[in-house]
Amino acid sequence: MTQKDSGLGPLADGARVVVIGGGPGGVAAALAVKQGARALGREARVTVIEGKQFAGGQHNNLCTGVLSPPIVELIERDLRVPFPHSLSRGAITGYVLRTPRREIVLDGEAEPSVTLRRIQFDAYMMEAVRQRGIETQSARVNGIEFHADRVVVYTESVPVEAEVVIGAFGLDEGTAVLFQRAVGYRPPPALASIVTKYHPGEAGMAEFGDRIHAFLPPSPRIEFGAITPKGNHLTINIAGESVDTDSMKKFLAAPEVRRALPCFENAGRFDAKDLRFFKGHFPCGLARNFSGDRFVMVGDAAGLVRAFKGKGVTSAALSGIRAANVILREGISARAFGAYRAANRDIIDDLPYGQAMRRLTILAARVGLMDVVLRAAESEPGLRRALFDAASAHSPYRQVVREGLTLRSARAMARALFFDDHSSAITDAR
Ligand SMILES: Cc1cc2nc3c(=O)[nH]c(=O)nc-3n(C[C@H](O)[C@H](O)[C@H](O)COP(=O)(O)OP(=O)(O)OC[C@H]3O[C@@H](n4cnc5c(N)ncnc54)[C@H](O)[C@@H]3O)c2cc1C
Repeated sequence: MTQKDSGLGPLADGARVVVIGGGPGGVAAALAVKQGARALGREARVTVIEGKQFAGGQHNNLCTGVLSPPIVELIERDLRVPFPHSLSRGAITGYVLRTPRREIVLDGEAEPSVTLRRIQFDAYMMEAVRQRGIETQSARVNGIEFHADRVVVYTESVPVEAEVVIGAFGLDEGTAVLFQRAVGYRPPPALASIVTKYHPGEAGMAEFGDRIHAFLPPSPRIEFGAITPKGNHLTINIAGESVDTDSMKKFLAAPEVRRALPCFENAGRFDAKDLRFFKGHFPCGLARNFSGDRFVMVGDAAGLVRAFKGKGVTSAALSGIRAANVILREGISARAFGAYRAANRDIIDDLPYGQAMRRLTILAARVGLMDVVLRAAESEPGLRRALFDAASAHSPYRQVVREGLTLRSARAMARALFFDDHSSAITDAR
């Protein structure tokens, strides 16, 4: 029997697609299926099922909301939705990379990232979905059944039958279990993250500036930390396999972190919710069995993000668009979704480089070698560029490794290690 005969060929005219999750991966997939089908002379019936209420501020999202290029292009060119520039809370112009003893300012020439409130971005994209004739259901999916000719998706509201289901449910553990039972899906490995924020006041924000401060502490628990300026406040987050509220308290008390936090005594003065701690997760590897007959996962659910320091929203949108293209042009069988894996080669092939870099950085930070790397980067532009690309997620890790591991960098590091005076580390680093 051919794929076409078994109903697993390219999405037919009038067929239905159910998307579970209305985050960036889900809305991108839904819009790309709807609009892509029309361009091919077909009509796709698309339903997005989302458990959260984005509008009205009832739910929150822990995502820091730093949207990296090419997000504007993806949304405007591929999804034909105007980018919501009005939601912007500022542009990120560079990074300050900090260890306990050193800091270096990294400013690249690349297009800046945009910061915004994720919940507002999600509400805007969901509205764009509705306006383009895509049905939405405000409910949680609580069951899924696969049949030879259809998928049945059960929700807290009405069930929906579809030809194919797109899993865009992020790292939701309950939904992962549904797919685990039904099709043997395994969620991606993930890092935990503790997030908090505080309002330092106008003068404090002006003092902090437009750069993200990224920290590589020697703590065995914290892999990295970051302070991000977002309009009227600073978002602070740390990540690691087992970070908790104590790790965050230690991080906030570290001298290098205190040096970066302006007017810390103002915490709670302008907003009573300052310094509340929240916990989230992000993937640091690939999921298993993330596609098969009549299903495909996108974004975090598939683990299709840049390892270590991600650009999760951009990658989720990209993988959503790629899944839609495969559904429309190749088919909805396990075999057809081989093309989805191939389309995501850029992300998948870069994961081992990202993971190697993650391990190396953790090790170097623990034994104090990151001080040497930062010192060497002051005199070696190639190494500085590699650090910028790693921190900003502007280039794949493969390129970061190529830029960073050169003879010139090795020489600069040897000089920094054996000949430099390490005592005046912080003042002469900028
Ligand atoms: C602390 C933290 C900070 C981050 N900061 C950034 C950042 O600054 N920039 C960046 O690019 N990325 C950031 N990320 C990563 C980014 O948030 C994710 O990569 C991105 O949101 C993935 O998009 P997605 O569509 O795959 O999943 P999600 O955005 O997680 O969306 C999944 C959606 O599915 C819904 N859902 C789940 N299960 C069900 C169900 N059963 N029924 C109905 N709906 C369901 C959820 O409610 C959710 O809205 C951060 C992550 C964390 C944890």
